[in-house]
Amino acid sequence: MSDFSSLNLHPSILSALTKKGYTTPTPIQAQAIPHVIEGRDILGIAQTGTGKTAAFSLPIIHRMAIAKVKIKPARVQCLILTPTRELAQQIEDNISTYAKQLKISSKAIFGGVGYRPQVQAMSKGLNFLVATPGRLLDLMDDGHVLFEQLEYFILDEADRMLDMGFLRDVKKVIKNLPPKKQTLLFSATMPKDIAALSKELLHDPIRVEVTPESSTVEKISQSVCMVEKSNKPLLLKSILDDKEIKSVLVFTRTKHGADRVVKHLDRNGVTAAAIHGNKSQGARERALNGFRAQKLRVLVATDIAARGIDVNHVSHVINYHLPDDPKSYVHRIGRTARAGREGRAISFCDNDELKLLKGIEKTIQTKLFVDTEHEYHGVAPHISKQVQNKPKTKHIHNQKKKVQKKKMQSRNVKR
Ligand code: AMP
Repeated sequence: MSDFSSLNLHPSILSALTKKGYTTPTPIQAQAIPHVIEGRDILGIAQTGTGKTAAFSLPIIHRMAIAKVKIKPARVQCLILTPTRELAQQIEDNISTYAKQLKISSKAIFGGVGYRPQVQAMSKGLNFLVATPGRLLDLMDDGHVLFEQLEYFILDEADRMLDMGFLRDVKKVIKNLPPKKQTLLFSATMPKDIAALSKELLHDPIRVEVTPESSTVEKISQSVCMVEKSNKPLLLKSILDDKEIKSVLVFTRTKHGADRVVKHLDRNGVTAAAIHGNKSQGARERALNGFRAQKLRVLVATDIAARGIDVNHVSHVINYHLPDDPKSYVHRIGRTARAGREGRAISFCDNDELKLLKGIEKTIQTKLFVDTEHEYHGVAPHISKQVQNKPKTKHIHNQKKKVQKKKMQSRNVKR
């Protein structure tokens, strides 16, 4: 495959890419960049981990660097809508790295943090505004964001917007955008509602697709461990006993489940933190930064919180609970084997999850390899400590009784 220089990008962008250590465009970048430079609309079928952020941002930065449009107060030249705060921040971080040597402004805005600084950032106008839909609508309603200068609109992770119930908000935003603009829509899957939206939104789009819908990344070695529910903590611990495993993303179904796993790992001397909707923005960022810097070995996440986590060195994804929606399985395991690396996905399946496992296998059209070698395969339910301790307490109780009896006897003798 060619290198970035053959894509005719602005020299400042090429130098930023070299600094970042990117030499070869990923398939979605090679496919999309020339068309975006030409001004075409794009329908991108790609999940996170394919390099789609650079695929849409590099050519737009390139065009902005050439056109040098002066942005008026409160105006936006390129709007990027994305479902989660983490993803918004990550996209903005990438854009500011790629555009470092250029006079191109960018800002991420999302809920859960102060409103004032975002109003202030908008007051000068922005080349790139990366936003989650809810907070953007608030700023729009208050007149802080105006779209007369909008030239580019990117709807990222459209299927996730739908899953998270944001589609109405997205449509409200779209109604306020000028009809003449270049639009790029990215989605890992193409549910009916998104297909309909893309028809409305895109004009004569170029379709770029890197992995077929709902197929799993080939480089990931996947297996499933059949395990009793109560043995899951022990199985997780036994996997993490291998010190070679340095960066692990663990998925749980619920926020409480995530907290419980972190506590269990903490007690066993494994550095871990949880990231989910009940955590403050600060706590989420601390957890993510600690994991990125490899100060934490394990990050435990729920599906929604994990969407958009961009950490290249995740070697293992562990599905502590299987997801209810089989498509989430594809998204989860896509967190490993990123940027050309290898990865492993291990799923824990208890008796109540057999149906979910079938659903996943149907979706990915593959039977998962069943690991029968792990310590807890076919092992009876683990008896909790409380139950184990019962005879001991009884024993202690009896001993106390004996001591008391003896004391009474000696007292009686003295009398
Ligand atoms: P994305 O799908 O945009 O979230 O990107 C996935 C990861 O791949 C990110 O960590 C990017 O920094 C990285 N990446 C993107 N493009 C390239 C490239 N051409 N070469 C190496 N890494 C890349």
